[in-house]
Amino acid sequence: MKSYATCYKCDYRTKSYLTVEEINIQIIKDGADDEEHCPCCGGYLKIEEGESIYSRQVMEDLRRRRGLAREDRSEDNDIMAMPKEQVFKELCNWNGLFGWNNTFLKWVEEIYGIKLN
Ligand SMILES: [Zn+2]
Repeated sequence: MKSYATCYKCDYRTKSYLTVEEINIQIIKDGADDEEHCPCCGGYLKIEEGESIYSRQVMEDLRRRRGLAREDRSEDNDIMAMPKEQVFKELCNWNGLFGWNNTFLKWVEEIYGIKLN
């Protein structure tokens, strides 16, 4: 599960969906002297678990597709790192719609007039 850091005192918050290493790099880049203190006010930072990129329902399906329990977050980072096209395909397959993924994507593009990638 990727996370973000927030300051106890001010509104500072790192971008979501970073690993702890990336958070530390970001904090320093934002001007802090170390990884524990807010670059804005020097207050202490706390690490908070971020939301997933995908909805809870989608994440649960993708976990179960991998043979994990619905609430097992151990492979969430791997899941969120997958290309969206693969996520869509896995989701179709898990829901019994084998081989429909490309057709569905094409329909969405044609109906909504958007290019998915
Ligand atoms: Zn602060």
